Amino acid sequence: MWKITPLNLGTLDMTMATMISRFGVANDVGKVVPSPLIAWLLTNLEDGRRILVDAGPGPDAEQLTRDHNPVGIRDDQQLTAVLAEHGLKPEDIQTAILTHLHWDHAIGMRYVPNARIFLQKRELLYAVAPMQSDYKFYEINIKTRIPYFLSYYNRLALVDGDTKIDDGIELISLPGHTVGSQGVLVRTPEGKYLLPGDIINCYENLNTGIPGGIFHNAPDVWGSMEKIRRYIKDERVTVLPAHDIGVFTPS
Ligand SMILES: [Zn+2]
Repeated sequence: MWKITPLNLGTLDMTMATMISRFGVANDVGKVVPSPLIAWLLTNLEDGRRILVDAGPGPDAEQLTRDHNPVGIRDDQQLTAVLAEHGLKPEDIQTAILTHLHWDHAIGMRYVPNARIFLQKRELLYAVAPMQSDYKFYEINIKTRIPYFLSYYNRLALVDGDTKIDDGIELISLPGHTVGSQGVLVRTPEGKYLLPGDIINCYENLNTGIPGGIFHNAPDVWGSMEKIRRYIKDERVTVLPAHDIGVFTPS
């Protein structure tokens, strides 16, 4: 059994159209919404082992704002400070999972130096040579730097599809937002929880059945949404969105 703790690593300004793929003026698609950058700390309730799921965008909000969308990171939202609140240093983390390799989830893994990082193989294969329209999500467009995910290349533990990696921890293939996106199914004393990654940005994606607005492949998105609905129905899984401030105040 595990405990799930959401970590607030800053804010990324997104348009409403990014959060949920609606169309038309009446849906305020251009409205800018500050969305939290969330990682997750899993703690084994029997032996205290930890797993970090995603790692946020790294420490440099000014650089990120120049390269991407406006990013805000308070000092107390730096990964090192947030882990310290839980009595941890980044180097203490031995196991990590990336839901996908987009910059806002994966740059931070550079600063978790000892973690073996579980990732879907397909995600890595795509990220090294994506479609041009996806370059910015993986920082392939920045010619002055090696892509961040290659800096921890030799720490990646690549998996292919649904994979149980520990007692009570399963990686669930959920392609669509990206080629090799995955969710993490976690057994807790309160039942099973799914961390779905960016296919579910906010509770509204879940409640309306309309996914987030950034996706690589629409049919894969619908298949993954259906897979999530089956977990909810068949196993009464609770879903925790990837960019919804509501996860910090569970009802
Ligand atoms: Zn994201």
